Amino acid sequence: MHAELATVVIVGASLAGVAAAEELRECGHEGEIVVVGDERHPPYDRPPLSKQMLLAGSRIADCHLRSAAWADELQIDIRPATAAVRLDTRSRQVILSDGSAVGYDGAVIATGARPRMIPGADASGLRTLRTADDAIALRDRLSAGTRLAVVGGGFIGAEVAATARGRGVEVLVIEALPRPLSRVMPPLIGDVCARLHEEHGVGLRCGAPVAAVRGSDEAGFEIELADGSVEAADLVVLGLGVIPNTEWLAGSGIAVDDGVVCDAHCRTSVPGVVAAGDVARWSHPRYGSVRVEHWENAVAQGAAAVRSLLFGDDTAPFDPVPYVWSDQYACKIQVVGRPSADDEIVVVEGDPSAFRFAALCAREGRLTAGIAFNRRSTIRRIRQLLADDTSLATASELLNRLETAA
Ligand SMILES: Cc1cc2nc3c(=O)[nH]c(=O)nc-3n(C[C@H](O)[C@H](O)[C@H](O)COP(=O)(O)OP(=O)(O)OC[C@H]3O[C@@H](n4cnc5c(N)ncnc54)[C@H](O)[C@@H]3O)c2cc1C
Repeated sequence: MHAELATVVIVGASLAGVAAAEELRECGHEGEIVVVGDERHPPYDRPPLSKQMLLAGSRIADCHLRSAAWADELQIDIRPATAAVRLDTRSRQVILSDGSAVGYDGAVIATGARPRMIPGADASGLRTLRTADDAIALRDRLSAGTRLAVVGGGFIGAEVAATARGRGVEVLVIEALPRPLSRVMPPLIGDVCARLHEEHGVGLRCGAPVAAVRGSDEAGFEIELADGSVEAADLVVLGLGVIPNTEWLAGSGIAVDDGVVCDAHCRTSVPGVVAAGDVARWSHPRYGSVRVEHWENAVAQGAAAVRSLLFGDDTAPFDPVPYVWSDQYACKIQVVGRPSADDEIVVVEGDPSAFRFAALCAREGRLTAGIAFNRRSTIRRIRQLLADDTSLATASELLNRLETAA
């Protein structure tokens, strides 16, 4: 039996918010559901923004998460282009940008995150990629011969580089660390990624922190690096990670620390309020305090947060094995678990030089993660091994045996 909540307000009309709304109905919630979102578009998917949406002729409609009839069918009161500006947890009201307020019995915080900028950069027109409007604006500036500088060699930067390269754009990736992806992955993976991009004609400046960016969209840009050298570009896209959208919670009593702080059941520090998706930092039973910025997590956590709102302690802790994928050129890169830059890494299948392999990451003999390039079935197996908390030795032996048998 679940709690009878007259009204649940979900703030953030994107992946986690949509998953939360659907799970409410799935669990038999018959009360009102209000979904508040500050974007003007119907809920849409973000992964295509750095992939298909940067291709000529792309349409936002192809990224819509649900049909136009979705909200009516589930009897959801969806409010686009409306920001939540304050959460009053005493009177249980969400205050909206149009001056109105919505009372709630339960609230879901699903406000995601926004791109980090270069502090103090003296340039207008620096681009980031988080929204459909960002993608359309960037798409329309990409053409053969345009010089694009991507600052940041993480997944988003690498995907923008790959898609732009496919359109004949001259791409330079500038990364402060010694190789791409090296904040969270062992060096072997960064080296493979670097080679993948170089083979496709992308220029790479690694170990090159940006000191200053000057210029504008009209005049072009100069990017000064810490060693004093200067790179020129027509367009600059920043892929420097994200900041959770929590400012609107100031004064609400909701604990915030690089994300909304939640317990293992996605409950915030204030009763009746849960959080999910990129904005949520929760106490993962296995990994401790984490915030995960991946698609699959937003969907699963949106649903888990709502179950916790409805069923309280009767729900299981939210303890997924994280999963993220990235598409670059013809490569499907998949990561399960939580790798670290200083993990031990062992290739268990295939050949990194052919961009087709699977590797295990481990710390003190325990499996921490699996990373695969174009090896979809293996990644599923590794995920199960991680869920079972397998040792590196056992996991390697098992995968070797399967490889030999295949
Ligand atoms: C370009 C791009 C490519 C990606 N590719 C992949 C991929 O290949 N694989 C993968 O696993 N993950 C990928 N991701 C990550 C994945 O898309 C995110 O993890 C996911 O979108 C998180 O969903 P969310 O609902 O938590 O947050 P978001 O999608 O950020 O949605 C939050 C929503 O809340 C709105 N909002 C914020 N503040 C307020 C407010 N005060 N009031 C009302 N509304 C508010 C925001 O505008 C936004 O619409 C990608 C992300 C991006 C940006």
